Amino acid sequence: MKKQYLFLVLVAGLLAFFSACSNETVYKTLIITGQNNHNWKASSPVLKQILDETGLFSSDIMTTPEKGGDMKTFDPDFSRYKLVVIDYNGDSWSEKTNTAFVEYVKNGGGVVIYHAADNSFPAWKEYNEITGLGGWGDRNQKDGPYIYYKNNQLVTDTTAGPGGSHGKRREFLVRTRITDHPITKGLPVRWLHGNDELYSQLRGPGKNMQVLATAFADSAAGGGTMRDEPVLMTITYGKGRIFHTAMGHADEGGGPAMQCVGFIATLQRGAEWAVTGNVTQKVPWDFPSAAGVVLRAGYKELTLEEAIANIGGYDIAKSTKNLSYLQSSIRNLAGDEQGLLKLEKMMVKVLTGNEATVEAKKLLLRELSWMGSDYSVAAIKGLVSNAELKDEAEFALSRLQSK
Ligand code: ZN
Repeated sequence: MKKQYLFLVLVAGLLAFFSACSNETVYKTLIITGQNNHNWKASSPVLKQILDETGLFSSDIMTTPEKGGDMKTFDPDFSRYKLVVIDYNGDSWSEKTNTAFVEYVKNGGGVVIYHAADNSFPAWKEYNEITGLGGWGDRNQKDGPYIYYKNNQLVTDTTAGPGGSHGKRREFLVRTRITDHPITKGLPVRWLHGNDELYSQLRGPGKNMQVLATAFADSAAGGGTMRDEPVLMTITYGKGRIFHTAMGHADEGGGPAMQCVGFIATLQRGAEWAVTGNVTQKVPWDFPSAAGVVLRAGYKELTLEEAIANIGGYDIAKSTKNLSYLQSSIRNLAGDEQGLLKLEKMMVKVLTGNEATVEAKKLLLRELSWMGSDYSVAAIKGLVSNAELKDEAEFALSRLQSK
């Protein structure tokens, strides 16, 4: 009896210990919104969902008074939070709130600056040091230099001119510039971002700032600067760490800019870094490559099973999304023989089933030709008699059998 009792006490103790540990890793987060030239009613719940889904954050959304309202009533207790996310572009806050925010950051509070939040508060010096770079709001040379990449060099450009512009909304290629930062470590050097505005000509103090990633503002897209414009940045201010993403223009329900897995994953990683200085999250298997945009309609990470099922309905004319899913999952499983075999079995099941389109089967044969094992060979031999797949099947067999 005594032993059993001791065992129960031990189990209860361990449970209490682990629940205490897990509670400690959930960071209280404050998302500030309520005024914006953007659809903040759409973006703020999406930001909350993206952050809270990691299990690392528990977010409250706080809205300021409407434009022209009494800002004295907006008085958040920043000290209750590990992370403050700014989804706000509007009236000045009260002096008291400004001071409290600056103190919060100086003392080590984490901050995420999201999209038009870098348009906000052009006259508030400390805020502009916290964001590093900003645009619009009559910003010009008085606010700091333009900062961008040109010919693969980071340029600090003091030329006179307005701050902030963007061309037509479009998908654009993001280029990682610092690959060994905790936020970008393990991400592809180039990946395609969902339809968004590419903020250009941002200018500001840029102190204690690192440009993690850029995107090329092609003049063909209208208003392009022909520079590689910063899209992801980190800044330190006092003891505080700031992650600044210029991406994520929100449509109703978030839209493609916020549904982009690249936006989601960099936001999640940037937010964790802002709190701890580290990133413990794995790069998601569906992170986009340069080959195609990957969107998550419900923001949640797709399971591999769902993605493979999607590939069965693959239509080259409509979307490269499913191909990107497959290619990124193969890439992320590199070196994991068990994982690759599991994926290969799923691919073979779709390949030999009756539901998938011919396009999908050709695509699977192409991928299997280089990543497949003996497991695929028998299944592929069975497809040589299929006139539509004969060429691809023979090609895959020749590559697999010469391994
Ligand atoms: Zn926008």
